[in-house]
Amino acid sequence: MPAAHERREALKRLFLDEARDCVRCPLSQSRTQVVFGAGDADADLMFVGEAPGRSEDEAGLPFVGQAGKLLDRLLGDIGLERGQVFIANVLKCRPPNNRDPMPGEIEACQDYLRRQVDLIEPRVICSLGNFSTKLLRAEPTGITRLHGRPEIQTVGTRAVRLYPLYHPAAALYTPSTLETLREDFARIPELLEMPLPDAPEPQERPEPADEEPVAIAAGAADSERQLGLF
Ligand code: URA
Repeated sequence: MPAAHERREALKRLFLDEARDCVRCPLSQSRTQVVFGAGDADADLMFVGEAPGRSEDEAGLPFVGQAGKLLDRLLGDIGLERGQVFIANVLKCRPPNNRDPMPGEIEACQDYLRRQVDLIEPRVICSLGNFSTKLLRAEPTGITRLHGRPEIQTVGTRAVRLYPLYHPAAALYTPSTLETLREDFARIPELLEMPLPDAPEPQERPEPADEEPVAIAAGAADSERQLGLF
């Protein structure tokens, strides 16, 4: 199992060498910056939201707007803070006017999330809302039916406990959704205590093609801030 500093370095490399200057989809034209995700590279608990909004696009960090403040409070209620978890999104770039992610954008971006999960190796992933839940379950059932029901899923190369939750933005102005979200959150500590799920059967994988090494971009200090790595 990699040491914490190795995970941190590998995540930083993924951000600096690939994600930061990503042009895999047209959102690269309209974003201010890539919002890669932030937190503890060695976290047991990971949250996956939908996509950066305006505040996140400006800050380069996930969940820093109103929904993020609620996420901080919900974490606080279970004795955790942001620096102890890793927070990412399905899309790393803001869709114009906060419209829904489009299938081609999700397709282009999903490799980053899969690799983040492979590097961090969380025990539990909370998918926040419909987009991350559908992506991580590879199936279109909506969050209303699935929230609060932990299940074992294979994400990347590992089995993890996936725990679908309502998106905090949906709870901001709907007290009953907030109440449900609080109740669902309260079970997270119990899920973190559960034994790790068994590894999935290894799949046949095609040999990766040789690739030119990517030039290492400058700006490591900035990446530390943008990754919020602890
Ligand atoms: N909503 C999300 O899904 N992600 C963010 O980073 C902010 C708001």
